[in-house]
Amino acid sequence: MPELPEVESLRLLLQESARGRRIIAARINEPRLRRLVAADFTQIIAGRTIDVLARRAKYLLVGLSGGVTLLAHLGMSGSLTHRGGGFGDNEFNPAHDHLHFQLDDGTALVYNDPRRFGLLKLVPTAELEQAVELRELGPEPLSPAFNAEYLFARTPGRRAAIKNLVMDQRIVAGIGNIYASEALFAARVRPGRAAHRITRAEAAKIVEFSKAILTRAIGSGGTTFRSYRDSRGMPGRFVSSLKVYGREGEACYVCGTPIKNKVLGQRASFYCPSCQD
Ligand SMILES: [Zn+2]
Repeated sequence: MPELPEVESLRLLLQESARGRRIIAARINEPRLRRLVAADFTQIIAGRTIDVLARRAKYLLVGLSGGVTLLAHLGMSGSLTHRGGGFGDNEFNPAHDHLHFQLDDGTALVYNDPRRFGLLKLVPTAELEQAVELRELGPEPLSPAFNAEYLFARTPGRRAAIKNLVMDQRIVAGIGNIYASEALFAARVRPGRAAHRITRAEAAKIVEFSKAILTRAIGSGGTTFRSYRDSRGMPGRFVSSLKVYGREGEACYVCGTPIKNKVLGQRASFYCPSCQD
């Protein structure tokens, strides 16, 4: 599932390759995504220029001329690729190419999504902060607002697992399953520990390592599982840096103990029972 680093990597690439381009026409092959793509979508988007590439949590925000923003979420398996004009060949199954944006330089942006959990909708830019998807999100994990005091202040009285707290989008927006697992390993805190039992020093470590790991993952183009590819159709390289995620039964790189996997909040949660408590 694409997380914040994958979306940020995509944003940076599209900023280089697609900013300033005009969308000549859009075509919808399959409108049935997480929600139905609006019937007037192609009519509204055609003729607009891509002015701004922004991101909020795991949402890519494509600011278009005329005060409209394309709000995109890649869901479980979505990819937005920039094709043609030397941007690499299409290795995607064309049956899953659901939206096609023709640009004025002969290239195209294509939204491919085998599982169709993604979301694409147009929002007036002036109303973006009030959009139902964005209005309740907590601070960005890489912003100064996400700090030790902030996280620690949210732990008293909370019996929920610390990993679920870190993945609660209302508390901090954009830390998903992969990076929550990795940050907790680096901070030596078990993912299933009740949040109210986290010390201030541990909260500081969780914040510090969350920021460091997200930053490194962005620099590596993110982590690739299954279908994710960046805008050039390239996989992310961070998978080789993962210490616990996806490594159940394999030896901990620090101590050699087999990595465990416990389901928390319906999500697989990987940890080392020796290094983390
Ligand atoms: Zn270990």
